[in-house]
Amino acid sequence: MTNTQQYFNSEEFENKFHCSASLGAFPSAAGTVFRLWAPTAEAVALRLYRSGDGGGAEEFHAMAPAGRGMWVYETRRNLDGFYYDYEVEVDGVLRVTADPYAKACGLNGQRSMALDLSRTNPPGWEFDQPPMQKPETVIYEIHVKDFSWDPASGVPDKYRGKFKALCQTDTTLNNDGKHPTCLAYMRELGVTHVQLMPVFDYGSVDEGGGTDAFNWGYDPVNYNVPEGSYSTDPRNGEVRIRELKEAIQALHQNGFRVIMDVVYNHTYRLDSWLWRTVPWYYSRQRPDGSPSNGSACGNDAASERSMCAKYILDSVLYWAEEYHMDGFRFDLMGLLDVKLMEDIRHALDRRWGRGEKLLYGEPWAAARTAARSGTLLAGKEGLRRLDRETGAFCDATRDAVKGPVAADQEAVPGFVNGGGLDAQALVNCVRGWAGAKGAFSVKAPSQTITYLSSHDDWTLWDKLVLTMDLRRHFDRLDRTLLRANRLAAAICFTCQGRLFLLSGEEFARTKQGIRDSVCSPVQVNRLDWGRAWENRELVDYYRGLIALRMRLPGLQDKSAQARTRVTEAREPYRDCVTLHIDNQSLKTESPWRRLFLAYSVRQDTVEISLPEGTWELLADADSSFRWKSPEPHSGTYALPHMSIAIFGQR
Ligand code: CA
Repeated sequence: MTNTQQYFNSEEFENKFHCSASLGAFPSAAGTVFRLWAPTAEAVALRLYRSGDGGGAEEFHAMAPAGRGMWVYETRRNLDGFYYDYEVEVDGVLRVTADPYAKACGLNGQRSMALDLSRTNPPGWEFDQPPMQKPETVIYEIHVKDFSWDPASGVPDKYRGKFKALCQTDTTLNNDGKHPTCLAYMRELGVTHVQLMPVFDYGSVDEGGGTDAFNWGYDPVNYNVPEGSYSTDPRNGEVRIRELKEAIQALHQNGFRVIMDVVYNHTYRLDSWLWRTVPWYYSRQRPDGSPSNGSACGNDAASERSMCAKYILDSVLYWAEEYHMDGFRFDLMGLLDVKLMEDIRHALDRRWGRGEKLLYGEPWAAARTAARSGTLLAGKEGLRRLDRETGAFCDATRDAVKGPVAADQEAVPGFVNGGGLDAQALVNCVRGWAGAKGAFSVKAPSQTITYLSSHDDWTLWDKLVLTMDLRRHFDRLDRTLLRANRLAAAICFTCQGRLFLLSGEEFARTKQGIRDSVCSPVQVNRLDWGRAWENRELVDYYRGLIALRMRLPGLQDKSAQARTRVTEAREPYRDCVTLHIDNQSLKTESPWRRLFLAYSVRQDTVEISLPEGTWELLADADSSFRWKSPEPHSGTYALPHMSIAIFGQR
């Protein structure tokens, strides 16, 4: 291990340099202060500019050391609207860097901006509130650009692919006035939360370049500034901030809570603003000094070091406070440490109330990371040490239902596409793997994000095509595949835990079999609003499942005892499983005290015995809206091939 690593890992360093001051630029009528934490620097200079790109610095100011590794410049002038960067000298090497604590920036985030943030609030922002919580959480993952890029979206050209498109509340397909798209479509679908793929400033798209440039955005440059390519004017640092706030306000007004996808586990390049300011402090290193690469992106954040942890915690709190974000989805949470995730959970709870802000992440990393020894990581091994209100994507259910997602597992099926039905695995899925032993295990379904597809890996539809259609027709809406898709969705929506879907999963979204579309053109990634209407029946099926789920407290229960509501009935036949669910609740009213679920992946109809009494059929393979006028059943029921039947008893 290098001396620098040992020093940064030491208690001595933390005791000497941990700095609790607010860092960044703070302009006001009374004056402006700049604070930068750079404990290894020999000298720091502030440079001021009139514009966010181009032109030389107008002023240079030496920063003064102010204790605990902090450098400060103070003036009586109000520098609101000025752009700036720093020259930081470490070990005799002078590096130019933007401010890692910047809250605003110029084109491509290369210069920071001192900005009075109150000027960026849209009208009515002080009254902005998230909608009331619904009985169940259904998260819909969208990407700002691919959501509205399709000209058929009905969004005005100048707003397509921008934050502004999220303020267009009543768009229709090709402006036909009949078929809702975008926000109006999501309202009809009934999802409760919108998860925005990265909206912080990322580096892979040139903000001054062509309008078709596309990337998912998992390459952070400025963690506390919105992405410029989603704004109508990336050169003016105020605009992207105001427009993201407008989008969040519109989403709130339309009944959605907003979740931000955050990528603190790595920076776009090792040579980041953080690295230039305090070389190596924020990055894990292998014993030979090379950068740790558990992110597969070239570097890993050293979240176990106190100022890195503070950086991440402060950033989360900032987005929640300044932008009214209602939750956070942590990319590669398995690279961050349990203590940090606990600190974030508790800080959010203290400020906004217990569990009010959703918190969940990917409980894995891309590869092994070189964390300080003794660090407990928030991957699967750490889930049981996390707060019950800190959740994780449940790959166990995802893979059980449709098959695994690794590149060499393309043809490996799950329950619905030829893999057969494993009763024990299905019961675990339904319980959200609470108290399960094995690959995925949590304390309670509050920790489980149940899903079938996200932006990563094949879309659900593409996986079904790859496993079921030898001719690989991704565009064709094949009836057998649609039936498998319905079954997959119905299984997912009868699992405890919170629910999540990739936008377009409900209309058989295809990326033409491309497994990883991070760098694929926007034409591949874009939501195809024509297909959404072509495949209206599948959309309706999802819509019914979402609406029914709001009426089933037995599946909404997020407590550690929720698993005891689920009991397996006898398994009468191969590839067919029946379950009893206790649906009684003190909190949510439901007409049905008990549920009886029957799942079949057989190719023939199977006659099942219903438990004693009269049962109402609430949903089957043909309709997820049967609960609106349910028909009574008793005795036996002929369960058709490849289908689910959901019964309720009053
Ligand atoms: Ca950018």
